[in-house]
Amino acid sequence: MRSTMMDYPLTLVRFLERAGRYFPDTEIVSRMPDKSLHRESYGDFYRRARALAAALTRAGLKKGDRVATLMWNHYAHLEAYFGVPVSAGVLHTLNLRLHPQEIAYIVNHAEDRFLIVDDILLPLYEQFRSQVNFERVIVVRLTGNPTPDGFDDYEKFIAPGGDAFTYPTIDEKDPLGMCYTSGTTGKPLGVVYSHRSTVLHAMNVGLADAIGTPSGTTYLTLVPMFHVNAWGAPYINTALGIKQVFPGPYYDAESILDLMEREQVGLAAGVPTLWMGVLQALEREPKRWRLLPGLTLVVGGSAAPEAMMRAFDRLGITLLHAWGMTETSPMGTVSRLKPKLEKLGEDQRYAIRVKQGLPALLVELRVMANDKEVPPDDQTMGEIEVRGPFISGGYYKTAPSPEKFSPDGWLRTGDIAVVDAEGYVKIVDRSKDVIKSGGEWISSLDLENFLMGHPAVAEAAVIAVPHPKWDERPLAVIVLKPGQSATPEQLAEFLRPKVPKWWLPDAYVFTDAIPRGSTGKFLKSRLRDLYGKGAPSAAGKAG
Ligand code: ADP
Repeated sequence: MRSTMMDYPLTLVRFLERAGRYFPDTEIVSRMPDKSLHRESYGDFYRRARALAAALTRAGLKKGDRVATLMWNHYAHLEAYFGVPVSAGVLHTLNLRLHPQEIAYIVNHAEDRFLIVDDILLPLYEQFRSQVNFERVIVVRLTGNPTPDGFDDYEKFIAPGGDAFTYPTIDEKDPLGMCYTSGTTGKPLGVVYSHRSTVLHAMNVGLADAIGTPSGTTYLTLVPMFHVNAWGAPYINTALGIKQVFPGPYYDAESILDLMEREQVGLAAGVPTLWMGVLQALEREPKRWRLLPGLTLVVGGSAAPEAMMRAFDRLGITLLHAWGMTETSPMGTVSRLKPKLEKLGEDQRYAIRVKQGLPALLVELRVMANDKEVPPDDQTMGEIEVRGPFISGGYYKTAPSPEKFSPDGWLRTGDIAVVDAEGYVKIVDRSKDVIKSGGEWISSLDLENFLMGHPAVAEAAVIAVPHPKWDERPLAVIVLKPGQSATPEQLAEFLRPKVPKWWLPDAYVFTDAIPRGSTGKFLKSRLRDLYGKGAPSAAGKAG
């Protein structure tokens, strides 16, 4: 017997058509370089995305051709998010925070054919222009400056419109976009998303048990659109007719809070370092901002410290913790309490909310040590492996290595975790960051989480330093809050009741800022370069 259901492809065309047809009045608000706010209706967005698709097709774009973007988050990037895939092209978002040399490597590796670039990013483009070979470079004028000679002007490019544009036949397995891993721990690798994987992932993000965006909510897309599809938000928000707000090039806490207040944002997503800045600004002037009651901030990309979650709660703002990676589209897990766990005491609820959570629907997850699943005892550590319809099964033009994929086809994430009896996963470290002391593992994330709970500590990162007897020992790099002080002894005292004695860092380094990678995460490789041979003389010993 066969099912009677239609064989209907899951493609982005449906998302775009739904947005244009049913939500033409919804607004898209973008911060421009001069700080003014640009407003576009979904109706205009729909016409312009189709006009872009038509223009690319006229320019000779063939199925599967890569169209790179070098852009901040704004309306034109959203147009490219849809206009490129519905013309059967592949949207390749370039991470503008990478070194120009690295961007050039990625462009050439992906064999990008066209580039759409913000005018304010042309100086960055000039730094790698001689190393790449785009057929057309299309400039989005965010400032009033004219488009320089030799480039296409985006408005002129799409001016003929797309009324007569007909969608090419797209198979749901056709590629839709690509993104390179941010390279925190190694060379960037290309992940290629399909229409099907993107649609399934986006719908999953929209579930109330995952991120869930109720209609009527305004969503501030802070996750850079050049990084893992801004966590899928632009796709699902558009399909659901959600009002979208984009920060343009402004990521400082003041600008973010200003947008949240002006547009009455209900939901936003970003990395912990971003929220730390916002929290500090709010704590400095708690009465200054009139934010929407019930504001929810999705946090992921690195672990959300419990102290931050508690501090936001005190301000009436909820943090929702999620985990994922470029290879997982990215949503792999989300930490929402099962209803029966709502009854637990406050400390227990926090202990679960700071975990990375339960696997998203359709994501199979196992935590493996010595080729076996670890027991769900919340303490045996192993590596997270995942598989599912929006998990990458390989890398572009790169042979799959056993380090990245198990013999039975699961993605090895490189994240070390424990799992509890309810199925919640807690990441204790990245395999490259975990501290191996005397044959046992120390979780740098746990130490950081506790240290960031100290009232004087703004940021903490813990790395392994070589030790003649124990192999490795932890060293903590600390940024104190302005005007606050703490000695190594005081920090050790603070940690002592919380962790086993042998976990206590051997040394503390105080610094002004922790180096960050291109996506705002602490760059531990850089810290290892700086302090990996042990603490400099300015550091303190304790323990
Ligand atoms: P990169 O691997 O270069 O950092 P990704 O952006 O793909 O690039 O990062 C994915 C990694 O980020 C995960 O493997 C994990 O180590 C880390 N990560 C993401 N979300 C979380 C989280 N909520 N808690 C802890 N680590 C996280």
